[in-house]
Amino acid sequence: MLANKTAVVTGSTSGIGLGCARAFAQQGANVVINGLGDADEIEATRKAIESDFGVKAVYSAANMLNPDEITDMIGTAEKEFGSVDILVNNAGIQHVAPVEDFPPEKWDAILAINLSSAFHGIRAVVPGMKKRGWGRIINTASAHALVASPFKSAYVAAKHGIAGLTKTVALEVAESGITVNAICPGYVWTPLVEAQIPDTMKARNMTEEQVKRDVLLAAQPTKEFVTVDQVAGLAVFLCSDHASSMTGSILPMDGGWTAH
Ligand code: NAD
Repeated sequence: MLANKTAVVTGSTSGIGLGCARAFAQQGANVVINGLGDADEIEATRKAIESDFGVKAVYSAANMLNPDEITDMIGTAEKEFGSVDILVNNAGIQHVAPVEDFPPEKWDAILAINLSSAFHGIRAVVPGMKKRGWGRIINTASAHALVASPFKSAYVAAKHGIAGLTKTVALEVAESGITVNAICPGYVWTPLVEAQIPDTMKARNMTEEQVKRDVLLAAQPTKEFVTVDQVAGLAVFLCSDHASSMTGSILPMDGGWTAH
Protein backbone atom coordinates (compact mmCIF):
# COMPACT_ATOMS: atom_id res chain seq x y z
CA MET A 1 0.00 0.00 0.00
CA LEU A 2 2.88 2.42 0.70
CA ALA A 3 5.37 1.33 -1.98
CA ASN A 4 7.39 4.27 -3.34
CA LYS A 5 6.49 6.35 -0.31
CA THR A 6 8.90 7.59 2.36
CA ALA A 7 7.98 7.91 6.02
CA VAL A 8 9.91 9.87 8.63
CA VAL A 9 9.04 8.82 12.16
CA THR A 10 10.55 10.86 14.99
CA GLY A 11 11.36 9.03 18.19
CA SER A 12 11.35 5.64 16.50
CA THR A 13 14.24 3.91 18.23
CA SER A 14 11.73 2.37 20.62
CA GLY A 15 8.08 2.04 21.59
CA ILE A 16 5.24 3.44 19.50
CA GLY A 17 7.51 5.15 16.96
CA LEU A 18 9.41 1.97 16.20
CA GLY A 19 6.09 0.12 15.87
CA CYS A 20 4.89 2.73 13.34
CA ALA A 21 8.16 2.64 11.37
CA ARG A 22 8.01 -1.16 11.13
CA ALA A 23 4.32 -1.09 10.16
CA PHE A 24 4.99 1.42 7.35
CA ALA A 25 7.94 -0.67 6.16
CA GLN A 26 5.69 -3.73 6.14
CA GLN A 27 3.44 -1.79 3.73
CA GLY A 28 6.44 -1.14 1.47
CA ALA A 29 7.50 2.36 2.55
CA ASN A 30 11.11 3.40 2.95
CA VAL A 31 11.60 4.77 6.43
CA VAL A 32 13.75 7.24 8.30
CA ILE A 33 14.07 6.24 11.92
CA ASN A 34 15.17 8.74 14.55
CA GLY A 35 15.74 8.90 18.27
CA LEU A 36 18.19 8.46 21.07
CA GLY A 37 19.88 5.28 22.22
CA ASP A 38 22.83 2.96 21.93
CA ALA A 39 24.42 3.20 18.45
CA ASP A 40 24.81 -0.58 18.01
CA GLU A 41 21.21 -1.24 19.04
CA ILE A 42 19.94 1.46 16.69
CA GLU A 43 21.96 -0.01 13.82
CA ALA A 44 20.54 -3.47 14.57
CA THR A 45 17.01 -1.98 14.60
CA ARG A 46 17.65 -0.24 11.25
CA LYS A 47 19.07 -3.38 9.63
CA ALA A 48 16.18 -5.50 10.91
CA ILE A 49 13.67 -3.19 9.19
CA GLU A 50 15.54 -3.57 5.89
CA SER A 51 15.90 -7.33 6.11
CA ASP A 52 12.40 -8.01 7.50
CA PHE A 53 10.57 -5.92 4.91
CA GLY A 54 12.93 -5.41 1.93
CA VAL A 55 12.77 -1.60 2.08
CA LYS A 56 15.42 1.02 2.68
CA ALA A 57 15.78 2.32 6.24
CA VAL A 58 18.08 5.15 7.29
CA TYR A 59 18.76 6.57 10.71
CA SER A 60 18.75 10.27 11.55
CA ALA A 61 20.31 11.31 14.85
CA ALA A 62 18.46 14.67 14.82
CA ASN A 63 17.81 15.87 18.35
CA MET A 64 14.22 17.07 18.65
CA LEU A 65 15.44 19.82 20.97
CA ASN A 66 17.20 21.43 18.03
CA PRO A 67 15.07 23.02 15.24
CA ASP A 68 17.98 23.12 12.75
CA GLU A 69 18.60 19.40 13.13
CA ILE A 70 14.90 18.72 12.48
CA THR A 71 14.93 20.80 9.30
CA ASP A 72 18.13 19.05 8.16
CA MET A 73 16.60 15.62 8.84
CA ILE A 74 13.69 16.38 6.50
CA GLY A 75 15.98 17.95 3.85
CA THR A 76 18.34 14.97 3.93
CA ALA A 77 15.44 12.51 3.65
CA GLU A 78 14.02 14.41 0.66
CA LYS A 79 17.42 14.32 -1.03
CA GLU A 80 18.01 10.64 -0.27
CA PHE A 81 14.53 9.34 -1.21
CA GLY A 82 13.13 12.11 -3.43
CA SER A 83 10.25 12.91 -1.07
CA VAL A 84 8.89 12.75 2.45
CA ASP A 85 5.29 11.57 2.08
CA ILE A 86 4.50 10.63 5.66
CA LEU A 87 5.68 12.41 8.80
CA VAL A 88 4.91 11.01 12.23
CA ASN A 89 5.74 13.46 14.99
CA ASN A 90 6.12 10.97 17.78
CA ALA A 91 9.21 11.75 19.89
CA GLY A 92 8.23 12.44 23.44
CA ILE A 93 9.41 12.53 27.01
CA GLN A 94 7.64 12.70 30.35
CA HIS A 95 8.35 14.14 33.78
CA VAL A 96 6.10 13.65 36.79
CA ALA A 97 6.17 16.21 39.65
CA PRO A 98 3.84 18.63 41.43
CA VAL A 99 3.74 21.95 39.61
CA GLU A 100 5.51 23.85 42.38
CA ASP A 101 8.44 21.39 42.24
CA PHE A 102 8.43 21.02 38.45
CA PRO A 103 11.95 21.87 37.18
CA PRO A 104 11.66 24.73 34.63
CA GLU A 105 14.29 23.05 32.42
CA LYS A 106 12.08 19.92 32.25
CA TRP A 107 9.13 22.12 31.28
CA ASP A 108 11.20 23.64 28.45
CA ALA A 109 12.46 20.25 27.24
CA ILE A 110 8.98 18.67 27.23
CA LEU A 111 7.48 21.61 25.34
CA ALA A 112 10.37 21.50 22.84
CA ILE A 113 10.36 17.74 22.21
CA ASN A 114 6.65 16.94 22.57
CA LEU A 115 5.25 20.05 20.83
CA SER A 116 7.67 22.41 19.09
CA SER A 117 9.53 19.62 17.26
CA ALA A 118 6.25 18.79 15.48
CA PHE A 119 5.94 22.39 14.32
CA HIS A 120 9.51 22.35 12.94
CA GLY A 121 8.97 19.03 11.17
CA ILE A 122 5.63 20.09 9.72
CA ARG A 123 6.92 23.39 8.34
CA ALA A 124 9.76 21.50 6.65
CA VAL A 125 7.60 18.79 4.99
CA VAL A 126 4.55 20.77 3.91
CA PRO A 127 6.09 22.51 0.84
CA GLY A 128 7.13 19.16 -0.75
CA MET A 129 3.80 17.51 0.13
CA LYS A 130 1.92 20.45 -1.42
CA LYS A 131 4.01 20.21 -4.58
CA ARG A 132 3.21 16.50 -4.94
CA GLY A 133 -0.44 16.91 -3.84
CA TRP A 134 -0.23 14.12 -1.26
CA GLY A 135 0.89 13.88 2.32
CA ARG A 136 0.08 12.33 5.66
CA ILE A 137 1.05 14.04 8.90
CA ILE A 138 0.32 12.08 12.05
CA ASN A 139 1.01 13.50 15.48
CA THR A 140 1.28 11.09 18.39
CA ALA A 141 -0.67 13.01 20.99
CA SER A 142 -2.15 11.23 24.03
CA ALA A 143 -5.33 10.86 26.03
CA HIS A 144 -3.62 13.76 27.81
CA ALA A 145 -4.45 15.88 24.75
CA LEU A 146 -8.07 15.59 25.87
CA VAL A 147 -8.00 15.26 29.65
CA ALA A 148 -5.49 16.05 32.41
CA SER A 149 -3.87 14.10 35.23
CA PRO A 150 -2.15 15.72 38.21
CA PHE A 151 1.64 16.09 38.30
CA LYS A 152 2.03 16.15 34.49
CA SER A 153 1.68 19.87 33.82
CA ALA A 154 4.21 20.12 30.99
CA TYR A 155 3.15 16.90 29.26
CA VAL A 156 -0.56 17.73 29.39
CA ALA A 157 0.09 21.29 28.18
CA ALA A 158 2.24 20.02 25.28
CA LYS A 159 -0.28 17.34 24.29
CA HIS A 160 -3.22 19.78 24.40
CA GLY A 161 -1.02 22.05 22.28
CA ILE A 162 -0.39 19.38 19.69
CA ALA A 163 -4.13 18.83 19.31
CA GLY A 164 -4.45 22.54 18.48
CA LEU A 165 -1.52 22.39 16.05
CA THR A 166 -3.06 19.34 14.35
CA LYS A 167 -6.39 21.06 13.77
CA THR A 168 -4.81 24.33 12.60
CA VAL A 169 -2.49 22.75 10.03
CA ALA A 170 -5.28 20.43 8.85
CA LEU A 171 -7.35 23.49 7.94
CA GLU A 172 -4.42 25.20 6.22
CA VAL A 173 -3.59 22.24 3.94
CA ALA A 174 -7.10 20.82 3.50
CA GLU A 175 -7.20 21.44 -0.24
CA SER A 176 -3.69 20.13 -0.93
CA GLY A 177 -4.21 16.37 -0.58
CA ILE A 178 -2.54 16.42 2.82
CA THR A 179 -4.23 15.11 5.95
CA VAL A 180 -3.15 15.97 9.48
CA ASN A 181 -4.40 13.90 12.39
CA ALA A 182 -3.51 13.15 15.98
CA ILE A 183 -3.59 9.73 17.61
CA CYS A 184 -4.36 9.84 21.32
CA PRO A 185 -3.31 6.59 22.97
CA GLY A 186 -4.15 5.76 26.53
CA TYR A 187 -1.45 3.90 28.43
CA VAL A 188 0.73 1.82 26.12
CA TRP A 189 3.34 -0.41 27.75
CA THR A 190 6.59 1.17 26.48
CA PRO A 191 9.85 2.38 28.08
CA LEU A 192 8.24 5.84 28.53
CA VAL A 193 5.53 4.44 30.80
CA GLU A 194 7.85 2.09 32.64
CA ALA A 195 10.23 4.99 33.38
CA GLN A 196 7.58 7.16 35.05
CA ILE A 197 6.60 4.53 37.59
CA PRO A 198 9.33 5.36 40.17
CA ASP A 199 8.48 9.11 40.18
CA THR A 200 4.76 8.37 40.36
CA MET A 201 5.45 6.03 43.32
CA LYS A 202 7.26 8.92 45.01
CA ALA A 203 4.71 11.64 44.10
CA ARG A 204 1.74 9.53 45.23
CA ASN A 205 3.45 7.46 47.95
CA MET A 206 2.45 4.18 46.32
CA THR A 207 3.97 0.78 45.50
CA GLU A 208 4.67 -0.22 41.89
CA GLU A 209 1.61 -2.48 41.81
CA GLN A 210 -0.57 0.33 43.19
CA VAL A 211 0.70 2.70 40.50
CA LYS A 212 -0.09 0.19 37.73
CA ARG A 213 -3.54 -0.67 39.07
CA ASP A 214 -4.73 2.55 40.75
CA VAL A 215 -3.08 5.20 38.55
CA LEU A 216 -2.36 3.77 35.11
CA LEU A 217 -5.04 1.17 34.47
CA ALA A 218 -7.52 2.90 36.81
CA ALA A 219 -7.97 5.40 33.99
CA GLN A 220 -8.70 2.72 31.38
CA PRO A 221 -12.06 0.99 31.65
CA THR A 222 -10.74 -1.99 29.65
CA LYS A 223 -8.07 -2.49 32.39
CA GLU A 224 -5.63 -3.38 29.63
CA PHE A 225 -2.67 -1.51 28.21
CA VAL A 226 -3.07 -0.37 24.59
CA THR A 227 -0.50 -2.15 22.39
CA VAL A 228 2.10 -0.62 20.11
CA ASP A 229 0.70 -2.71 17.23
CA GLN A 230 -2.78 -1.27 17.71
CA VAL A 231 -1.44 2.30 17.54
CA ALA A 232 0.70 1.45 14.49
CA GLY A 233 -2.36 -0.09 12.82
CA LEU A 234 -4.24 3.20 13.19
CA ALA A 235 -1.27 5.10 11.75
CA VAL A 236 -1.24 2.79 8.70
CA PHE A 237 -5.00 3.25 8.29
CA LEU A 238 -4.54 7.05 8.33
CA CYS A 239 -2.17 6.65 5.37
CA SER A 240 -4.69 4.64 3.36
CA ASP A 241 -7.12 5.97 0.74
CA HIS A 242 -10.01 5.09 3.05
CA ALA A 243 -8.76 7.79 5.43
CA SER A 244 -8.46 10.56 2.80
CA SER A 245 -11.39 12.47 4.28
CA MET A 246 -10.15 12.20 7.83
CA THR A 247 -8.26 15.33 8.71
CA GLY A 248 -8.02 17.51 11.77
CA SER A 249 -9.19 14.50 13.78
CA ILE A 250 -8.09 13.95 17.34
CA LEU A 251 -8.45 10.20 17.66
CA PRO A 252 -8.54 8.48 21.05
CA MET A 253 -7.34 4.88 21.31
CA ASP A 254 -7.51 4.65 25.05
CA GLY A 255 -9.56 1.69 26.24
CA GLY A 256 -12.46 4.04 27.00
CA TRP A 257 -10.44 6.42 29.23
CA THR A 258 -11.77 9.67 27.72
CA ALA A 259 -15.36 8.34 27.62
CA HIS A 260 -15.56 9.05 31.38
P1 NAD B 1 9.51 5.67 24.22
O1 NAD B 1 10.27 6.23 25.36
O2 NAD B 1 9.54 4.21 23.97
O3 NAD B 1 9.88 6.40 22.88
C1 NAD B 1 10.20 7.76 22.83
C2 NAD B 1 11.07 8.00 21.63
O4 NAD B 1 11.41 9.39 21.58
C3 NAD B 1 12.41 7.24 21.71
O5 NAD B 1 12.77 6.78 20.43
C4 NAD B 1 13.38 8.31 22.18
O6 NAD B 1 14.72 8.07 21.81
C5 NAD B 1 12.81 9.51 21.43
N1 NAD B 1 13.29 10.78 21.95
C6 NAD B 1 13.26 11.25 23.22
N2 NAD B 1 13.88 12.44 23.30
C7 NAD B 1 14.32 12.73 22.04
C8 NAD B 1 15.04 13.80 21.48
N3 NAD B 1 15.46 14.85 22.22
N4 NAD B 1 15.31 13.76 20.16
C9 NAD B 1 14.94 12.71 19.41
N5 NAD B 1 14.26 11.66 19.89
C10 NAD B 1 13.95 11.68 21.19
O7 NAD B 1 8.00 6.15 24.48
P2 NAD B 1 6.62 5.87 23.76
O8 NAD B 1 5.68 5.50 24.83
O9 NAD B 1 6.76 5.01 22.58
O10 NAD B 1 6.23 7.35 23.33
C11 NAD B 1 6.12 7.77 22.00
C12 NAD B 1 5.09 8.88 21.93
O11 NAD B 1 3.83 8.35 22.35
C13 NAD B 1 5.38 10.07 22.84
O12 NAD B 1 5.06 11.27 22.18
C14 NAD B 1 4.44 9.83 24.00
O13 NAD B 1 4.10 11.03 24.65
C15 NAD B 1 3.25 9.22 23.29
N6 NAD B 1 2.36 8.47 24.14
C16 NAD B 1 2.77 7.39 24.82
C17 NAD B 1 1.87 6.72 25.63
C18 NAD B 1 2.27 5.52 26.43
O14 NAD B 1 1.48 5.11 27.28
N7 NAD B 1 3.41 4.91 26.20
C19 NAD B 1 0.55 7.15 25.73
C20 NAD B 1 0.17 8.26 25.00
C21 NAD B 1 1.07 8.91 24.21
